[in-house]
Amino acid sequence: MTGTKTFRLIALALLCSPVSAGQPPDVVRTTSLSQRGFTEKDFPRVQQVADRVYTFEALTGPPGDRYTTNSMFVVTDDGVLVADGQGSPEDTGRLVAEIRKVSDRPISHVIICSDHGDHTNGNSAFPQDAKFIAHSNSVAALEVAADTGGVRPDAIIDDRLDLTIGNREVQILFFGRAHTGGDLFVYLPEEKVLFTSEVFLNHMFSGYRTAFPREWIDTMSRAEELDAVLLIPGHGFVDNADVLAAEWIEYKHHLQVVLDEVTRLHTEGWSVDEAIEQADFGKYRKWSGADSEGPIGIRRIYAELNGDLN
Ligand SMILES: [Zn+2]
Repeated sequence: MTGTKTFRLIALALLCSPVSAGQPPDVVRTTSLSQRGFTEKDFPRVQQVADRVYTFEALTGPPGDRYTTNSMFVVTDDGVLVADGQGSPEDTGRLVAEIRKVSDRPISHVIICSDHGDHTNGNSAFPQDAKFIAHSNSVAALEVAADTGGVRPDAIIDDRLDLTIGNREVQILFFGRAHTGGDLFVYLPEEKVLFTSEVFLNHMFSGYRTAFPREWIDTMSRAEELDAVLLIPGHGFVDNADVLAAEWIEYKHHLQVVLDEVTRLHTEGWSVDEAIEQADFGKYRKWSGADSEGPIGIRRIYAELNGDLN
């Protein structure tokens, strides 16, 4: 076979393989606005991802390292369910305004999937007669957040809650501790849409401040058993289903790489400060958030390996 012919075949394979006919094109895998051709004016962004199911992405983070914080809302004849609010009353107010553009039904349920402030500090901007639902592991954090714009939950779950709202089935699921300890998923079984909150970030280094690094990977494995077709991340762009499925695998791999590297350093007897000096996370050190979250992650994994997390 001539070199040219080989090249043509490879080129043809590359053209055909990543995106099959009829599916949306691939995108640059990044959290960077400029690399994707976005400007600040393109946000907040609302996308319809299934029948009366929408995502809302607002920008957060310092200038130069802006990324999206994501919410999902599900419209039914009886009410609107929201998965995760935003980090300020202003941004959650914008989310409520977007909901009002597509439905006049009351916002009946707010699911607190991540108890971190960047997803809860705007909860006072939701109608306060909505039912706020959280996991029992999140109660203490939400109690603290109630003083800074957060809202105390009305209902606490330990395992799962199956809701039927306006003939729509919605499952609130706990698969184990991950990014916060009280990590909840919202699953729409008919549409096979899974809102993953901060268990999954799109092409962004994981936040470890209150994480359970070893359990996190198992939590992701259990969520995979749902066979969802669309995995909506807590941060990073809401891309098409193929991209997000690939990035879910990549994200899980990055958690494993970080865990394995830190476990190696721990086993070799390095102190945590020495481990922070030496740790090599390969390509993931270039991901957004790696510089700040890497050292936090190393301390957290050391604590977990030492049996200091409970
Ligand atoms: Zn967050």
